[in-house]
Amino acid sequence: MGISKKILVIPGDGIGREVTLWGRTALERVAKKGGHSFTFREGMMGHEAIEATGSPLPEATISLAKASDAILFGAIGHQKYDQDPTLRVRPEQGLLSIRKELGLYANLRPVRLFDELLGASSIREEILRGTDILFFRELTGDVYFGEKKRSGDGNTASDLMIYHRFEVERIAHKAFEAARTRRKKLCSVDKANVLESSRLWRETVQQVAQSYPDVETEHLFVDNAAMQLVREPRRFDVILTGNLFGDILTDEASQIAGSMGMLASASIGDQAGFYEPIHGSAHDIAGKGIANPIASILSAALMLEISFGLKEESASLIRAVETTLRQGFRTMDIADKHTPNARVLGTDAMGGKVVEAIQ
Ligand code: NAD
Repeated sequence: MGISKKILVIPGDGIGREVTLWGRTALERVAKKGGHSFTFREGMMGHEAIEATGSPLPEATISLAKASDAILFGAIGHQKYDQDPTLRVRPEQGLLSIRKELGLYANLRPVRLFDELLGASSIREEILRGTDILFFRELTGDVYFGEKKRSGDGNTASDLMIYHRFEVERIAHKAFEAARTRRKKLCSVDKANVLESSRLWRETVQQVAQSYPDVETEHLFVDNAAMQLVREPRRFDVILTGNLFGDILTDEASQIAGSMGMLASASIGDQAGFYEPIHGSAHDIAGKGIANPIASILSAALMLEISFGLKEESASLIRAVETTLRQGFRTMDIADKHTPNARVLGTDAMGGKVVEAIQ
């Protein structure tokens, strides 16, 4: 029997709108095929919302989000703010606020490699083959939320790196539980040789690990982890880390998957799950119709599995992406020198091919 769900779509800025159309279309296709009823609403956030309402996260979007079962998000950001760091109202405040409003504390980022894209990465094939990593990035603490200060003369600035034990505990449990369903290996990444907040992180993870004796746990310093990730990515199964280190390491890991346009993420917490590509609004290609829509489609796949428990439907989206890549179709970011011009598609043509391939 089909299920009934309310989905909020927040396209955002730049390529956000271009790619989210395809995440949503994939969900519509799955609903139609499986006899499910998905109701879609649209909300504003980011630059678009600031222009329309003065706020990067209008109240209306918060209410819609709280009344939804899951949220499909695109990206936010605009050159105006990147070029002027003194602007006080900024698109990214919308994203930080919605994470707080929805109590989203864990960001899951699977780095799955499609064999067809082995040649698209800047890393050698033999190093990459077989890589399958699941990142757990903490979302509510760290320098992003710690106190920010600037001295009176403007010449000194600080951001407080802060973690509370409960924040580390709750995400650590999620990460260990996930490791149990995978290859039973968990690597916690910190900088405990230098940072007090990392020492609390490591101590807490060590304590939580005692409840999961079947999971092999290791601790790496972030500088070493950054190096190991490109040296031997296959050695990793679940990687658990804080907000800042996770932000950086997952962008690095996107190169394993070939492009930023291939990586999806899920943010989970107390309420509706929040699903989004890891990339931003990509000003350099926005409006050109060439953005890769696959990360949005894979975000929809994560929503189906995590928020709705529709494992088979989720797998059908991943298989559709695989089929499309196997047929030789590429967007510009994942094309290599062997891809014929005729097979390099724009956003809509690529999105259309994947949706067509959903079984
Ligand atoms: P970005 O992720 O937007 O782009 C980085 C590079 O990857 C660019 O060259 C871009 O063309 C390419 N790229 C990204 N997504 C792609 C896709 N789907 N297909 C093909 N190529 C793709 O990062 P940036 O350039 O550092 O930031 C641009 C704006 O996005 C900034 O305003 C930033 O604040 C914002 N941003 C938002 C989020 C978010 O909404 N979650 C995340 C990161 C950056």
